[in-house]
Amino acid sequence: MNGDPIRDEALQANYARVLARIDEACRRSGRPAGSVRLVAVSKTFGAERVLALAGLGQRAFGENYVQEALGKMALCRERRPDLSWHFIGPIQSNKTRQIAEQFDWVHSVEREKVAVRLGEQRPARLGPLDCCIQVNVSGEASKSGCAPEAALALARAIVAHPRLRLRGLMAIPEPGMGEAVLRGRFATLRRMLEEIREALSSDWPTAARALDALSMGMSADLEVAIDEGATLVRVGSALFGSRPAAVARDR
Ligand SMILES: *Cc1c(COP(=O)(O)O)cnc(C)c1O
Repeated sequence: MNGDPIRDEALQANYARVLARIDEACRRSGRPAGSVRLVAVSKTFGAERVLALAGLGQRAFGENYVQEALGKMALCRERRPDLSWHFIGPIQSNKTRQIAEQFDWVHSVEREKVAVRLGEQRPARLGPLDCCIQVNVSGEASKSGCAPEAALALARAIVAHPRLRLRGLMAIPEPGMGEAVLRGRFATLRRMLEEIREALSSDWPTAARALDALSMGMSADLEVAIDEGATLVRVGSALFGSRPAAVARDR
């Protein structure tokens, strides 16, 4: 699995550029350097690209499709058991066991049934599964994520489960709306996290304090997301290059 030197050089330059964008966005927003974690979205790219980026210092990787991810993760783990794996795609009920057993984080919990299955299937030898609730902050323009008014009930279901650890919220705003709308979507997600924290603080004070994650921002909009409080940015194409069109679409 040796990389091609020209591709490796491009990856190194892309990685440096993305890290510099994150640092600069933190600086402009008056946020401490290191308050934003990069999740490298490796969907459609093979284990060789993951290992090349890991060799440059990246630790957290995001995957959308269970079937594609499992083989890649097994290959990577042989060489790099220290990487963390984030599931960020739509979750089908029949895939929850593999997600619960193989991943460290799930960003895309949007239904109670899926949350309960993930909790029941999380192996006891592993720590609690870190979860974010994916919220639809775009109304009818988007189909993924739970409705904002359903998020608190889902949060209560997750914090009540001992094998799950609710960390925060995730959103993917509808594309092509311009910066003002985008900023509004991210601000909505941040406000919702504050409301959920407040609502849980009397019954679940420890769980409320653990809510520290806003997973928002991708290659095109990570600066706006960081300005609005993102703590996890999910970046694919700015690191690995563009994906083939047929697989870049939601499957
Ligand atoms: C593909 C994907 C990303 C990365 O998108 P880029 O625009 O390539 O950075 C982030 N989050 C989710 C949920 C994705 O599916």
